[in-house]
Amino acid sequence: MSPAPVSLHNTLTRRIEPLQPLMPPRVTLYTCGPTVWNYAHIGNFRTFLFEDLLRRWLEHVGYDVFQIMNLTDVDDRTIKAARAAGKRLTEHTEPFTQAFFEDRDYLRIKPAHVYTRATEYMTPMIALVSRLLERGVAYKGEDGSVYFALAKFPTYGRLSRLDTRELKVGARVASDDYAKDDPSDFAIWKKSDAKDEAVGAAWDAPFGRGRPGWHLECSAMSLEEIGRRFGVQTLDIHAGGIDLIFPHHENEIAQSEGATGQPFARHWVHGEFLNVRGTKMSKRHGNFLTARDLREQGVDAAAVRLLFFQTHYRQPVDFTDEALDAAKEGVRRLDEFHARLRGAGSGEQGAGELTKLAEKMETDVSAALNDDLNAPRAVAALFDFVRAANRELDRGTGGGTGAALAAFERVAGVLNVLPTRKALDPELVRWVEERIAARDKARKSKDFKAADAIRAELSARGVEIEDTAQGTKWRMA
Ligand SMILES: [Zn+2]
Repeated sequence: MSPAPVSLHNTLTRRIEPLQPLMPPRVTLYTCGPTVWNYAHIGNFRTFLFEDLLRRWLEHVGYDVFQIMNLTDVDDRTIKAARAAGKRLTEHTEPFTQAFFEDRDYLRIKPAHVYTRATEYMTPMIALVSRLLERGVAYKGEDGSVYFALAKFPTYGRLSRLDTRELKVGARVASDDYAKDDPSDFAIWKKSDAKDEAVGAAWDAPFGRGRPGWHLECSAMSLEEIGRRFGVQTLDIHAGGIDLIFPHHENEIAQSEGATGQPFARHWVHGEFLNVRGTKMSKRHGNFLTARDLREQGVDAAAVRLLFFQTHYRQPVDFTDEALDAAKEGVRRLDEFHARLRGAGSGEQGAGELTKLAEKMETDVSAALNDDLNAPRAVAALFDFVRAANRELDRGTGGGTGAALAAFERVAGVLNVLPTRKALDPELVRWVEERIAARDKARKSKDFKAADAIRAELSARGVEIEDTAQGTKWRMA
């Protein structure tokens, strides 16, 4: 099966273009991961959730996605945070890495195939710096650090549409992050100082003891992974938040292409910001939210996913209590409909009105997600279906519930917006099944009093039962 056509906005060209992977059905996807100096906030998770949907959709239409996500465990911020905490670098970052994995699982984000920790990729990073020095696109400054020479890379600024006349030729910037009006030669390897040594953030290299610049890390790790696994030097998709376009992704392109002479990524996909209660999230505004805040408040991940997917990934989203409540209500309606369809008997076949509605819904969802991952249109199609199908079920027009249930579960599964099932205690399951068997026996011997007593006993423990042609079904109320 050849995968269905998927189009995505490409930041490089500012156009929506068909995805054309190098080795279909393989898609290599590199997603910039968290800097593990602290807990990731929900703005970071909005990006990771749009990437999760992108991956799930590509897999759904038949692509074989290989996703790489980095964990930035050495950079200016992690070193500063480790020093402030009086810890060694790894001792400080590892708990935040584990917290990130917990948050990822809470939000039902599919794990990447590989998580590359920067500190574990020093060999390819040092090799990449050496190669850039050999090719003359990098030089050692008098401060002992190694810089990328913008003047030697004429296409610099293409991704962020930088006016190259503004390049500060000869000026240098050593910090990992800086503003777009300050494009200068940037540090790819920073000579270590006493502060770096104090936390264990210094490595020996032929061009001097030091540590990698943040931008260099992503270039070295992605090229190492796709080179070793697939023998290529070009990613199919590189994704991240729009705040990474400059300088991070611009610098990744310069370093990677400066070393390989090959295009670094065919498709650049960027997600917009998240505001909380109308303003940019910040500790100062008192609207700083982490994924664990939501988890501690008992918010179901399905509601967070639905809230985010109701806005296109290239539009800013506002996270408000009202929007969250509306999303919770949406999830409840989906769940109710799901139960109703299941109750209608999934074994039923036939081409009823429900089958037609389900086919239309799946066609609409495909068209929406193939068109630059238009999740809000897909969500709208799903809810239109729920409304129309509920009307059909009210009318009692039979036929097609099996097909409708399968289509609903496929689409709700890609979006992953059905409520989290509370894990059932196996002890309880055994007890319920034993009681149902006892009730069946009582009914067969026409002891309806005993059968009713067992129903009441089950109900007292929150178990609802329903007698169908296929036997007695049960669920937790
Ligand atoms: Zn990156």
